[in-house]
Amino acid sequence: MGNVSHELKTPIFTAQGYILTLLDGSIDDLDLQKKYLERANRSIERLDFIVKDLDLISKLESGMNLHYQNFNIIKLISDVFDILEIKAAKRNIRLDFDKAYEFPILVNADVERIEQVLINLIANSINYGKENGNTTVSVQLVSKNKFKISVSDNGIGIKDHNIPRLFERFYRVDTSRSREQGGSGLGLSIVKHIIEAHNQELLVESKLGTGSKFSFTLNSVA
Ligand code: ADP
Repeated sequence: MGNVSHELKTPIFTAQGYILTLLDGSIDDLDLQKKYLERANRSIERLDFIVKDLDLISKLESGMNLHYQNFNIIKLISDVFDILEIKAAKRNIRLDFDKAYEFPILVNADVERIEQVLINLIANSINYGKENGNTTVSVQLVSKNKFKISVSDNGIGIKDHNIPRLFERFYRVDTSRSREQGGSGLGLSIVKHIIEAHNQELLVESKLGTGSKFSFTLNSVA
């Protein structure tokens, strides 16, 4: 609870600061007024974003009903590339597969939850990736009935000693940078919940200054 109120305070104070300045009436410059309103709005959007992720976390924590179905993971990854295309373009990051996947790869999982996992991991690869860099997604068969899906970036990377804490709620390696570029601070804990609910594995490999690779496994269709 302490973490939650701390996280909510910053955008509340920021929005309030701009609104009170405008209410004060001493700013006549219309452009400046608009700029302050836009900044207040950005803070409100951030609040909305955090509350939505908190909602999702509390749903996941109170027990998740998974709706297993067979689906083509290659198609789902392509759809997520489309969803995040504009975000990636802003940092000129290329979203791509490691190779051409000519045939569908069928897995058995909850497609909506896995879409959320892919969105969170690929969004992070953009937020913490190198400008003009690449995000590469691969799908490998790792055993008779398991695929491993990996999201790699060539961004800032993470020090070894920070890796075990990444999946904690609101944990951030670099708080100033992450607030500017990151999401709600809940992205990876949502990923962990979803992958654990599927009884699958989640792995992180990262090297500071070189990049990160987040992988998870899924069952193939028997
Ligand atoms: P958020 O991105 O909103 O801060 P997350 O739970 O998604 O929250 O990630 C937690 C932290 O893990 C981030 O703040 C960042 O420090 C680190 N992180 C996540 N993904 C990456 C990545 N691909 N490269 C480097 N650091 C990352």
